[in-house]
Amino acid sequence: SAELARAESLILEIPDYPSEGILFRDITPLLADGPALRATVDALIAPFAGRFDVVAGLEARGFLLASAAAYTSGTGLMPIRKSGRLPRPAGTVGYALEYGTAEIEAHADFAPGSRVLLIDDVLATGGTLVAAHALMRELGYAVAGTAVLFEIDGLGGRAAIDDPALHTVFHS
Ligand code: IMP
Repeated sequence: SAELARAESLILEIPDYPSEGILFRDITPLLADGPALRATVDALIAPFAGRFDVVAGLEARGFLLASAAAYTSGTGLMPIRKSGRLPRPAGTVGYALEYGTAEIEAHADFAPGSRVLLIDDVLATGGTLVAAHALMRELGYAVAGTAVLFEIDGLGGRAAIDDPALHTVFHS
């Protein structure tokens, strides 16, 4: 749609951030625009309408989109946090970063078998969302789909995630 095309034009490319050689996609101008934000969130969840019970967002920018998606769908929201930030025992999955390792965590507050729509802002190598899929398995939830605002082509993220229900709104 024209609204989505305009939304795409609001994603900025920032060279050499956060380190040299990285082309960072900055979605904050899209978030700043009401009609663009609404059209993007609608497009993010459209393929999964009626087929999920919970929306899970990846810290931190995934929270922004997942929260809007959960509100408009009338579902609950699951924050998937970086390690050490949850006050109660949680499921934990570790994964490799370019330098070092990281962990993500989520509470087991939903019924076993709940259908979860995973949401993040950007798909690069896929490491973060692969870990999120593993975390859902550990917690006994079913992944209803994976929805990402912007897919960076050529970094192998789509192959790594290996989810036939991977849906991305924009890509490079
Ligand atoms: P991956 O794990 O390599 O796929 O990287 C995806 C994660 O890193 C997501 O949680 C993104 O928020 C973040 N990320 C990677 N590249 C970018 C970018 O260009 N802009 C914004 N976030 C990014």
